[in-house]
Amino acid sequence: MEKRRSVAFHTLGCKLNYSETSTLSRMLENDGFEKKEFDDLADVYVINTCSVTDNADKECRQLVRRIQRKSPESLVVITGCYAQLKPKEIAAIPGVDLVLGAAEKFNIGTHLKELAKGDSTKISSCDIEEVSGFNPSFSLNERTRTFLKVQDGCDYNCSFCTIPMARGKSRSDTIENVVQHARELANNNVKEIVLTGVNLGDFGKGFNGNKKHEENFFDLIKELDKVEEIERYRISSIEPNLLTNEIIEFVANSKKFMPHFHIPLQSGSNKILSMMRRRYKRELYAERGSLIKTLMPHCAIGVDVIVGFPGETDEDFDETFNFLHSLDISYLHVFTYSERDNTKALEIKPVVPMQVRHERNKILRNLSYKKMQFFTQQHRGQTRKVLFEDHNKNGMMEGYTDNYIRIAVPYRAAWANEIVDWEI
Ligand code: SF4
Repeated sequence: MEKRRSVAFHTLGCKLNYSETSTLSRMLENDGFEKKEFDDLADVYVINTCSVTDNADKECRQLVRRIQRKSPESLVVITGCYAQLKPKEIAAIPGVDLVLGAAEKFNIGTHLKELAKGDSTKISSCDIEEVSGFNPSFSLNERTRTFLKVQDGCDYNCSFCTIPMARGKSRSDTIENVVQHARELANNNVKEIVLTGVNLGDFGKGFNGNKKHEENFFDLIKELDKVEEIERYRISSIEPNLLTNEIIEFVANSKKFMPHFHIPLQSGSNKILSMMRRRYKRELYAERGSLIKTLMPHCAIGVDVIVGFPGETDEDFDETFNFLHSLDISYLHVFTYSERDNTKALEIKPVVPMQVRHERNKILRNLSYKKMQFFTQQHRGQTRKVLFEDHNKNGMMEGYTDNYIRIAVPYRAAWANEIVDWEI
């Protein structure tokens, strides 16, 4: 009998990448592959890369070197955003056998049938304009919370961002398919689904991007709310201009959509927002935040912010700091601006010295820490529902309240993947 081939994955980057890796892994397992951990020996190693992390290139090289030392005869496949953006650079890394761009990622099984070690490195990618179609993905059996991809790509053109070049135009699944996936996940004992996409609020564009389904993100959440078997939903991240009042009001009245929003701001200065080509002003952001807190005073609000964008003066940064300080938010994700090939932001001068970027990052990370502490403090003594994860980390287990406060307790098997009342 022929020996089963084995495959191991490594994922860099965002939740979308994790959900796609999980789906690729299930596809290959259905094709007869045995799944291995990345540190184990495997016949095939797949690295799903990211273009947002600063040192995607370095990380990728290091991982390939590790594989080569451990298992020189194994096949090495690189896919993901970085593979779409820089296929030739990746193909030049010694030890790489196959580079799969955005359109070919989900055809990995077919490619592997034709691949042998020692062949010259194969690149299978096309121009991003030609990428269409939607591949639904979800992570399963890896976390108590499941990331369900419902939208891909982005039609915005923020001047710092390479994601539209790596993932293509905005496309989404149909509501019918998403609801069906939610039901399947519930049958697999999933308690919480995190709706994931590149520009989630833009949900509704068809599989090929251009034509709209007759439905939008608000319609989607209304339908998902009716799926009785799922106990919790979260919206991973939504642009402020797409987070409408009706969505906020709906979440405020829903028992299943958790009181938690993650809303990218990027800068608190209207001048910088306009140079970033964002589609809102800070006033709109403040309005959204205030409606959320009026309807749900206990709601968690997370904010993405970029420091050191070109042209960001000390005054602009102070404006951002003061704005964030004034907002009733729970935590920040702070990113240090870094130059990306083929982006409009490269034309903006003057650039901010790296040391200043790092100082600004530190200041905002401190602010985030204080915001998180204050938010947790506000809820001390309250009993809230915590979904504990099925993971024993040195005798401890972790979970999140409905409003995204992280709780760590000594491990109890009976609480794994269960929702438990917990006094904060
Ligand atoms: S909305 Fe802007 S930052 Fe977000 S993926 Fe689209 S282009 Fe990039």
